[in-house]
Amino acid sequence: MSSYNLNTSIAYLKGIGPSRADLLKKELRIRTIGDLLNFFPNRYIDRTSFYKINQLQQNSAEIQIVGKVTSLKTIQQKRGSRLVATFVDETGSIELVWFRAIKWIKESIKMNTPYVIFGKTNYYNRSFSMPHPEMELVSDYKKNLRTAMQPVYPSTEMLTNKGVSNRVIQKMMQSLFEEIDTRFLETLSDEIIYKYNLISKSEALFNIHFPKSQELLTSAQYRLKFEELFFIQLQLIRRKLIRKSKIKGYTFEKVGDYFNIFYKNKLPFELTNAQKRVVKEIRKDLASNAQMNRLLQGDVGSGKTIVALLSILIALDNGYQATLMAPTEILATQHFNSIKELLCDMNIKIELLTGSVKTKARRIIHENLENGELHILIGTHALIEDKVKFKNLGLAIIDEQHRFGVEQRSKLWLKNELPPHVLVMTATPIPRTLAMSVYGDLDISIIDELPPGRKEIATAHRYDSNRLSVFKFMKDEIAKGRQVYVVYPLIKESEKMDYKDLMDGYESISREFPLPKYQVSIVHGKMKPSDKEFEMNRFLKGETQIMVATTVIEVGVNIPNASVMIIESAERFGLSQLHQLRGRVGRGADQSYCILMTSYKLSSDAKTRLKTMVETSDGFKIADVDLKLRGPGNLMGKQQSGVLNLKIADVVNDGEILSQARAMAFEILQKDPSLASPKNKNIRVAYQKLSAESNIWSNIS
Ligand code: ADP
Ligand code: MG
Repeated sequence: MSSYNLNTSIAYLKGIGPSRADLLKKELRIRTIGDLLNFFPNRYIDRTSFYKINQLQQNSAEIQIVGKVTSLKTIQQKRGSRLVATFVDETGSIELVWFRAIKWIKESIKMNTPYVIFGKTNYYNRSFSMPHPEMELVSDYKKNLRTAMQPVYPSTEMLTNKGVSNRVIQKMMQSLFEEIDTRFLETLSDEIIYKYNLISKSEALFNIHFPKSQELLTSAQYRLKFEELFFIQLQLIRRKLIRKSKIKGYTFEKVGDYFNIFYKNKLPFELTNAQKRVVKEIRKDLASNAQMNRLLQGDVGSGKTIVALLSILIALDNGYQATLMAPTEILATQHFNSIKELLCDMNIKIELLTGSVKTKARRIIHENLENGELHILIGTHALIEDKVKFKNLGLAIIDEQHRFGVEQRSKLWLKNELPPHVLVMTATPIPRTLAMSVYGDLDISIIDELPPGRKEIATAHRYDSNRLSVFKFMKDEIAKGRQVYVVYPLIKESEKMDYKDLMDGYESISREFPLPKYQVSIVHGKMKPSDKEFEMNRFLKGETQIMVATTVIEVGVNIPNASVMIIESAERFGLSQLHQLRGRVGRGADQSYCILMTSYKLSSDAKTRLKTMVETSDGFKIADVDLKLRGPGNLMGKQQSGVLNLKIADVVNDGEILSQARAMAFEILQKDPSLASPKNKNIRVAYQKLSAESNIWSNIS
């Protein structure tokens, strides 16, 4: 045993030294022995089993095969030559290929002699090949005893270039385990270990680096994933409990006339069960004396607006003002108009505040807000302006939250004595597992049911060459009185080309759909806001039949008569964006359609996205596929992805472990909020240490 501990710099470990230590710090942020210990392999190579050639799979696993080389030839190419061997076993043959060290390999290979080859296979033209395999004669292979599984550690190009290969990292790990006391402190309580049948921390750390068997590897991974997720959830839930007990909010004790009269006489439809459940959840929050901080998730068209309105009425019933903020002027205006109409002759004063409200009207709004004459204010960013002061803002609702930055949100509640209750609504469904880790300290409500009678939007994928039949289809639908969106991608990096595509598309549509029979609108980001508004309104009123646009129409717009959505270059859109766009149609009683236009050249991810869109309209399923394709870091803003800085668990595949860890964390904190009980001592010590040394948990509001 030595005097090293987990905080000792890795430079003191045998075989590392200052320059390598420096490199590891720069490339992998490994500074101490503890960091190295917690640097986990991302996969393992199983050299305990052999594959037959007819069992090969198209994946990136490194595998080994026993067989013989039956022929060997050098092929001259434009740039250098390549050596190709035919390698056979009793089930088939593959090619082994070398581009380097050809002469040496050619001389050393023994023909028709049993070899073990090892490496990654490629699949091309219906056959497998293995470039630069590791080769060992079967007779030699049998002499060398091997450890079961070999860990493969994440690496960087720089490390590889500087000779820090996987083998070198394995050796470092070995000297770590030789030189320090490997009886690591247990971080979980006996209760948890027993309940989930976990192996000890020490055993897990050993087997994650040097798995003695497949079973122990599985146990080690499970134990470490559980632990990682458990401590994150512990932190999130603890913060939530603290917030609930400390951050007081206004108590909306009653449900009064506004709510009841509206509910009985004005509600234009019966609420879905999901809407009823969510309204109940919100009512409960509002009636408690803690500030509500709730995220409402609901697919496009699931009816979040009415839930927002009912919540607003509860605020009004208790003598408070409410505000609803939307990301665009068009959306804010739409909310304003529809809510105003729903509340007609209810003696509720409601105003719209956007950037284009004139100074004089604006001043009146400001005044009425401050003196309390105004009940509901709907608007855009203009709401956050410093001059806007509420008399008593009780509830702030933010629609389509992904369009607002975090600072913008918190600005809203700096104006009160007590923070208003906050309801954030989003149509970007976040898979439950991700929501639990990212928004773990918010309360979440989900509307997982569409209003009855909605027809599924028929979705099809068409190639550019089918364009004529697509035009024909548009004409047929327009003849029935419907309206059509045609959406083009617009991405900063290729902005110039994208605008050209948009304009070319607009021209060809104008040619195909000529005046005066047809009217075509166009809306894009380079237009003046007032021009945009003008064109949007023409389409809204039904004066134009076709709306050619970039993704500016993505969020929230409600034009029930528009029933066809054509998405150009659909392969360039992300899944959630495609889903949002499709959600613009299917809002009326008519059958709606979404046509995804693409070229023939499609990546495999693009094919998956298109297939998913054609097969399902369930936003949560789509979000799950999206998460799997893109990984969690990309799905959320940068701000939020900090939470997902996981060492071993991953939110895509470990949802079940996450749920267990969360339930356990919740149970423990409920019984022992400050972790003071002796049986939770391990947890308390580990938790304090983690909180002190890391700041990976970013707050979202
Ligand atoms: P989103 O959740 O996308 O904001 P909206 O609130 O705009 O959805 O609602 C979409 C449409 O569905 C609106 O026209 C709304 O009037 C209608 N709607 C909402 N709830 C119901 C319901 N329970 N029954 C019938 N129609 C509903
Ligand atoms: Mg909406």
